[in-house]
Amino acid sequence: MRGAMILLRTVAILVAAGRGARAGGEVPKQFKLIAGKHVLAHALEALASHEAISEIVVVIGKDEEKLARDAIGDPNIAITYVVGGESRRESVRAGLDGITSADRVLIHDAARPFLSKAVIDRLILAVDQMGAAVPALPVVDTLARGSDNLGEIVDREGLFRIQTPQAFRFDLIMAAHDGWTGATEPTDDAQMVRNIGHDVEMVEGDIMLDKLTYPADFRQAEQRLMSNLSTRVGMGYDVHRLVAGEDLWLCGIKVPHDKGLSGHSDADVALHALVDAILGALADGDIGSHFPPSDPQWRGVASSRFVEHARLLIEARGGYIDHVDITMICEAPKIGGHRDAMRVRVAELLAVDVRRISIKATTTERLGFAGRGEGIAAQAVATLSLPEGF
Ligand code: MG
Repeated sequence: MRGAMILLRTVAILVAAGRGARAGGEVPKQFKLIAGKHVLAHALEALASHEAISEIVVVIGKDEEKLARDAIGDPNIAITYVVGGESRRESVRAGLDGITSADRVLIHDAARPFLSKAVIDRLILAVDQMGAAVPALPVVDTLARGSDNLGEIVDREGLFRIQTPQAFRFDLIMAAHDGWTGATEPTDDAQMVRNIGHDVEMVEGDIMLDKLTYPADFRQAEQRLMSNLSTRVGMGYDVHRLVAGEDLWLCGIKVPHDKGLSGHSDADVALHALVDAILGALADGDIGSHFPPSDPQWRGVASSRFVEHARLLIEARGGYIDHVDITMICEAPKIGGHRDAMRVRVAELLAVDVRRISIKATTTERLGFAGRGEGIAAQAVATLSLPEGF
């Protein structure tokens, strides 16, 4: 049959309907962020970038289409969204029913986002010969059954871990689902193909395909992608006037003094400089464009609100705060005695370790507006790590 260059149509089903309770938090794991991109988007892009795959059916939970569309963005491939069922089997079935025409089908779990081209190549080669293929890795750890005193040691010889994507001829996987009579729910599709008496080829899997299950898996995956982070530095500067009859807020701490700062919000000049530094590193405008001074809703509010907003902007971009350095410039009050409390407060607002927060103060030798006690100035430098591509 060599030379019969028939173009086979390959459709991928991406199962993203799970709730993922073990991964912690309220967000299903396919919608968690890894290095600024949703798990679902990582998995989808891996499939979409393979030249053999011409369409992807994304199986989602009920009412999750908008969430999925927002996560995925606008990749250069045909996508169909279908709502999954109660079990994984039913979700895959819904995906299969969403396919109008295919010769090969790849069925993949969104919780395995790091899929290489090489694995897809091996699967396609094998499915064209055998009709069904799965990626598998030999078990290398010692296995024990039971938790009491190591339980019973299980011989790992000949044991394999079976991963996804799993590849099938379309008619074969449809027949397997149509003919499923198992008493228990299958954990994958290869079992169903075996159940109708068809062999399944094992090809070499990939440890990068290990399923993200526990919170630590996500942190580890993020670290793998850390090499894609770039460092951004932003600076901020602000001045407010000192007046009688106002509270003095600096770095989120109320500092006893005979005057306070006047102006926008609580006029915390140090936090304003900090927010501007973060926005600078994000190249996302300044504090005035996010919280216009003309807008009455910001009158008198705690500037911690602005810091919180800036922190969420970093998170939304999948970034991190590496370090923050704030300098206040004033003749009085003396800052030294408040420095530790200020560091703790700023660390709390940014949700980072206090060792990443530097707070300093200087005078201007009685020169200028700060030297005359007419106002306080603050400078801040924020260093962030942001994923490339932003
Ligand atoms: Mg200000």
